[in-house]
Amino acid sequence: MSVLAALTDALRSGAVEVVDLTTPLQESTPILELPAPFANTSRFRLEELSRYDDRGPAWYWNDIHTGEHTGTHLDAPNHWVTGRDGLDVSQAPMATLVAPAVVIDKTADVAVDPDFLLEVSHIEAWEAEHGPLPDGGWLLYRTGWEAHGATQEEFMNADEAGPHTPGVSAECARWIAQSSPLTGFGVETVGTDAGGAGGFDPPFSCHHFLMGANKWGLTSLRNLGRLPTRGAVLLVSPLPIVGGSGSPTRALALIEH
Ligand code: MN
Repeated sequence: MSVLAALTDALRSGAVEVVDLTTPLQESTPILELPAPFANTSRFRLEELSRYDDRGPAWYWNDIHTGEHTGTHLDAPNHWVTGRDGLDVSQAPMATLVAPAVVIDKTADVAVDPDFLLEVSHIEAWEAEHGPLPDGGWLLYRTGWEAHGATQEEFMNADEAGPHTPGVSAECARWIAQSSPLTGFGVETVGTDAGGAGGFDPPFSCHHFLMGANKWGLTSLRNLGRLPTRGAVLLVSPLPIVGGSGSPTRALALIEH
């Protein structure tokens, strides 16, 4: 039997399940908030063109207003100054958009410390237990932060010192970018960097190193708790925005039962 025939049979029987990792897109979908004087991205918004009325008696449709980095989205290498000559989002390799994914789960640590940072030692311990990271694949960082996704305020978790959300240390970001075989790094939070990463050296280390290494970021993921530690196949489908720095995307995972 062909591989694809076996796959479609498995999808029909339920032996392979498709898990939706995407945050629904609506006006309340949390977005990144940068302090002044930096420019901020748009909230997602529908602008109704017609709804079975004078403007279009038999049809309903909308224009959409959105940022490239609104909701579950892909960060392209050219998003950051370190990757300014790198690929744009329309140029994402198919081997990056459909690739193996593994999950590292730090939910328990983040529950007691929202500023928790993933370190290289955590990934090395994961590899000792679960084997090497997948060549050309994705590391998905489960933090439990999707549980904070109901409101902008809870998702940012900010006080006078700034946002408190989990991420990776600068050294770990450098390691993922430069020493790991991964093509990308996915998170549950609003961006791949920790809430406090503006104060890291270099600032926003995950963006700095990942984009600088021509790698990809994926944010605001949900349902990572439904994925196995290894063995899932990630499917990412950003809009092919020519010259774009990122795109809202559907993110799906195939898992085997
Ligand atoms: Mn982004």
